[in-house]
Amino acid sequence: MLDCMIKVAINGYGTIGKRVADAVAVQKDMKVIGVSKTRPNAEAFVAKQRGYPLYIADLSKKSAFEKAGLSVVGSVEDMCKAADVIVDATPGDVGATNKPLYEKLGKKALWQGGEEHEIAGFSFNSSCNYKSAIGRQFVRVVSCNTTGLCRVIHEIDKEYGVSHVHAVMVRRGSDPGEIKKGPIDAVVLDPVGVPSHHGPDVQTVLPHISITTMAMIVPTTMMHMHAIQISTKKPVNRDRVIDLIKNHPRLGLIKKTLGIKSTAELKEFAMDLGRQRSDLWENCIFEESIYANKNELCFFQAIHQEADVVVENIDAIRAMMGSEKDEVKSIAATNAALGFTTIQNNH
Ligand code: NAD
Repeated sequence: MLDCMIKVAINGYGTIGKRVADAVAVQKDMKVIGVSKTRPNAEAFVAKQRGYPLYIADLSKKSAFEKAGLSVVGSVEDMCKAADVIVDATPGDVGATNKPLYEKLGKKALWQGGEEHEIAGFSFNSSCNYKSAIGRQFVRVVSCNTTGLCRVIHEIDKEYGVSHVHAVMVRRGSDPGEIKKGPIDAVVLDPVGVPSHHGPDVQTVLPHISITTMAMIVPTTMMHMHAIQISTKKPVNRDRVIDLIKNHPRLGLIKKTLGIKSTAELKEFAMDLGRQRSDLWENCIFEESIYANKNELCFFQAIHQEADVVVENIDAIRAMMGSEKDEVKSIAATNAALGFTTIQNNH
């Protein structure tokens, strides 16, 4: 049984890597064959506690790991050799430096949104272009914001046709564990110029979508908030949009009855529901904000930056390995293994 499982290595066991490792570990068709760390820090201890074989980028640091009680199996290259597919979750731009290694070993690899589209020549979102990823050697899973945008824009596009999207992203300043980043007391336009990189990034997945995005960073760690306005080719029906959201495996509806008006309350709700790490893998679309008038649709959605791309990584692995040709089945398998049903089914 174990031999037919997809052997996955996670290069870079940080915010995204540790979540992907845990998500891989619960899938019926995959196993974690190793994770890599650069330093013997708290995350390395968690990897040990979870039973993930630990590999290190720089073998000269092996004694530092072993002094800390962390046994090291080998180098990152050793780990990659043992894998069918490598999830590169090293920091943005570091991933690109690993490509020659994956090429040398002839391994499949997927990168995260911190890398440029060109690294893989293919940017992925399960709901939008799963089938085009089947059998590929290299794939880039788009960033958290782009993932959230692609999921919902694609769904509205299928139903009504999208003429244009305007989206404003209010972005978290840092992840909760990142103590060195800000801002502490500012709203930073990031960038000042329009559009932000998010619009062009959506077009790496959905090239035909016309979209303009603006972005700013604010002093919060919880989630991003998107204000989205979509002009459609056919008139929009609000009830139908709510049904589309309710029936989508990665779109969540925050019902008005919850009384939730903020990312803080949303994260608290996820924690109380017992979600692992209080992760929200789905878009969180505020029901009360959904406004439909003729050919215009507006709404707010919150995106949990640490979580939404994790499930996409799992589907990307299946597509690249060619072990599941149907995105509906892959998405269902990924969600089921995580015990995840979208948030509207929890209240
Ligand atoms: P992170 O800094 O939390 O984790 C990166 C990990 O890689 C760390 O454990 C670090 O020690 C390790 N590392 C650094 N250099 C390495 C090397 N040469 N070899 C092996 N490991 C190395 O970063 P992150 O937030 O998890 O981001 C990873 C990628 O995911 C980036 O491309 C980022 O843009 C993308 N991403 C991040 C978020 C987010 O909100 N954190 C959301 C979506 C996508």
